[in-house]
Amino acid sequence: MTLNTEKSKKQLLEDINELQKINKKLKIDLEEAQTDAKIVNHVKSMFLSNISHEIRTPMNGIIGMYNVLKQTKLSKEQIEFLDIINISGQNLISVIDDILDLSKIESGNLKLENKQFSINDKIEKIKNLLIFKSKGKGINLISEHDTKIPKYVLGDAGRFKQILTNLTNNAIKYTKEGSVTIKTQLLKDTNKHIFVKFNIIDTGIGITEKNRENLFKSFYQVDSSTTRKYGGTGLGLAISKHLTKIMGGDIGVESTFGKGSTFWFILKFNKVLKNEVDLKSKDGIQKSGSKKLSVLIVEDNLLNQRFASATLIKQGHNVDIAENGMIAVEKFKNNKYDVILMDIQMPVMDGIEAAKEIRRIEKERNIAINKRVNILAVTAYVLDHDKDMCLAAGMDEYLAKPYKPQELIQLIEKIYY
Ligand code: ADP
Repeated sequence: MTLNTEKSKKQLLEDINELQKINKKLKIDLEEAQTDAKIVNHVKSMFLSNISHEIRTPMNGIIGMYNVLKQTKLSKEQIEFLDIINISGQNLISVIDDILDLSKIESGNLKLENKQFSINDKIEKIKNLLIFKSKGKGINLISEHDTKIPKYVLGDAGRFKQILTNLTNNAIKYTKEGSVTIKTQLLKDTNKHIFVKFNIIDTGIGITEKNRENLFKSFYQVDSSTTRKYGGTGLGLAISKHLTKIMGGDIGVESTFGKGSTFWFILKFNKVLKNEVDLKSKDGIQKSGSKKLSVLIVEDNLLNQRFASATLIKQGHNVDIAENGMIAVEKFKNNKYDVILMDIQMPVMDGIEAAKEIRRIEKERNIAINKRVNILAVTAYVLDHDKDMCLAAGMDEYLAKPYKPQELIQLIEKIYY
């Protein structure tokens, strides 16, 4: 009996030992798998960043030239053709943006803002943007606000706007007649947080129960003719689902086929304490200056050079051009510029190196930080770490290509006036 107990004790110890070994091996395997997954994710975002750069650069030329051409004398027919080029270009850019956005969210690289804003004001702004589209289709766009929702909350207004715009856009897109209503409802009010439900109710084509199951998956569209008929990528709902989860909420749909759908989402916001309410809303107002600036455009692509110069000259600024970083550094040594628009990927010397070299020369010349030339990175690389790389090289601001003339003008106004 004792012998037996001793034996089984020994066996037990051996088993425990074996289990510990397996456990250790599993831990190592798991760590390796996690490292592999990290590498795969990194490679994926590098790949997407490069692809988007390759597409955005020529797109910048196309959209840029659309803007320049639109300001010349054109026949009605030419304007119509030109607008089609613009719409298709903008659509292509939004597809690229969606893919990049989804990859950023999936890799856990999304940083949420926690800034004060008004939910009602934001909804009204979104409504004003979309009302032309709904009016064009003869659909009423209505908003109904729950008065119990506090005037100001803390959260990521940009991401909130992205979800609501996406769902409202869809509702208008898939409705032939009737109305689209954005309705808010305060679900829960705790000490620190509020939970708000947003309903987007349409009287459109509706979705069958079977199709509803797959709606929030990437690239899913109810039928393949959808893209041809309505445009879109099938990524909007997948992105919205990820975003609502990250923002402490949820998303869903109720629908009757042929009658209409109600897409809803819930978000959690931080509450603003009464004495914290900051009434100086930054929204909208831009200072406009009249000082004529001397701008150096550093850019190797001829179309992009012409687009940037046309925009700046129209504003009354003086423009000089360098077609790579090396020439830019030489020009900087011998001239006085207020602003340098710096492309990143260029032959001979790239924008990062050129910016570093300019900052080095300024240091050598003992130029005070507030007297330094403003360097604006203008690039089709749009991931966060690309932005960080530009700022680390000493650049002051960042503009993603392709940009509209107004975006360049506003950025210059923001830093200069
Ligand atoms: P996209 O609209 O770009 O195709 P989404 O992810 O936003 O992609 O939507 C996926 C699919 O869900 C759409 O292609 C459409 O078939 C369906 N859908 C979305 N919203 C509605 C709606 N309000 N009414 C009917 N169908 C919709």
